[in-house]
Amino acid sequence: MAEILLKSAQTVLTMDDDRRELAQADILIRDGVIADIGTGLATTGETVSATGCVVTPGLVNTHHHLYQTLTRAVPGGQDALLFGWLQTLYPIWARFGPEEMFVSAQIGLAELALSGCTLSSDHLYLYPNGARLDDTIAAAQEIGLRFHPTRGAMSIGESDGGLPPDSLVEREADILNDCIRVADAFHDPAEGAMLRIGFAPCSPFSVSRDLMRDAAILARDKGVMLHTHLAENDEDIAYSEASFGCRPGQYAEDLGWTGPDVWHAHCVKLDGREIDLFARSRTGVAHCPCSNCRLGSGIAPVRAMRDAGVPVGLGVDGSASNDAGNLMLEARQAMLLQRVANGADAMSAREALEIATRGGADILGRPDCGRLAPGKRADIAIWDVSGIETAGSWDPAALLLAGPTRVRHLFVEGRQVVRDGQIATIDLPRVIERQNRLARALVA
Ligand SMILES: [Zn+2]
Repeated sequence: MAEILLKSAQTVLTMDDDRRELAQADILIRDGVIADIGTGLATTGETVSATGCVVTPGLVNTHHHLYQTLTRAVPGGQDALLFGWLQTLYPIWARFGPEEMFVSAQIGLAELALSGCTLSSDHLYLYPNGARLDDTIAAAQEIGLRFHPTRGAMSIGESDGGLPPDSLVEREADILNDCIRVADAFHDPAEGAMLRIGFAPCSPFSVSRDLMRDAAILARDKGVMLHTHLAENDEDIAYSEASFGCRPGQYAEDLGWTGPDVWHAHCVKLDGREIDLFARSRTGVAHCPCSNCRLGSGIAPVRAMRDAGVPVGLGVDGSASNDAGNLMLEARQAMLLQRVANGADAMSAREALEIATRGGADILGRPDCGRLAPGKRADIAIWDVSGIETAGSWDPAALLLAGPTRVRHLFVEGRQVVRDGQIATIDLPRVIERQNRLARALVA
């Protein structure tokens, strides 16, 4: 019976059902699960001091393309809209292979962990030169983050009127077979699972209607979730209306892509009827504010979504369109953007933190994560608020209003992944060196 006691936190923001905030509190972890929260707790196991720290649930990242950490700040892609940006990057991504997928995923996940993330999804939709979803799974298992990779796909190449080059698309039968393979090999439906698979055709402009429908049927057969990009910007809406004769919400509904087992990335351009559809069907949204700003896509109607009851989580999106992977900064950006659109009272720091924690856990189907309460998984972020960022602050809301944006300690399933601000599970400086070597080879 392995126990760890987190001792004397200045504040614990539990994000539990009553949103309790506890002063001078301890958290007892037993076998990867939160056993108790309160004051004066004791253990015969390890004790970790949380003095001078705010403790939150681990943050949850609901949309990413980890492989893109190898293509940050690519000239030609820095100032383009979505479609032009993709067309700049596709030929570079076509040169990736298994090593690029593995190393870039380690970098992306380590970056997330340092910013408080304990559970991340990933959307990998291209498999050049022998790359497989397995490469990113191996990376996550080494670092120790809870991981929900999705088997993405593109099947409509340039010669068929799609956006990606023909060399990056796959045959639809091969895609579905590989979905079955990875679900059977890796998906763990149990409470406390460290690994769950999803199916994720890339976007309406890179796969056929048939693949969208077949993926939805297969996902329900396998008991896995569905994920894609939807209604990202005006070009995306125009493509939907011209190619399918309807808006993205209707396209999704017609093909079985609504429900509590579905979450869509971006949804910047959802209209009132689509927001109602998502609320009614409990369809989730991965809000990616930095990427939306970076690509000039617009401000997602998150206030209206939340008011209507749409489940919303946060995503950093790929590092080619952010280009950072800091989930705490993403939460801050979500708060700021809603204020730009709707006024200073449109979103509080606490609501943004809620979206970043239990909001994300809920849209990934993980009520066992994203909140600190007895019986929930011990996925815990510990933020040192004794430093300069928070000097003079009056309230734990300073975490989003001021900082810090990197954790002091991070626990996933009770295992320490970040210790004293450093990744404890892998040799990060070596991985950074390897990543930069791979990036230089791609440039050459
Ligand atoms: Zn994306």
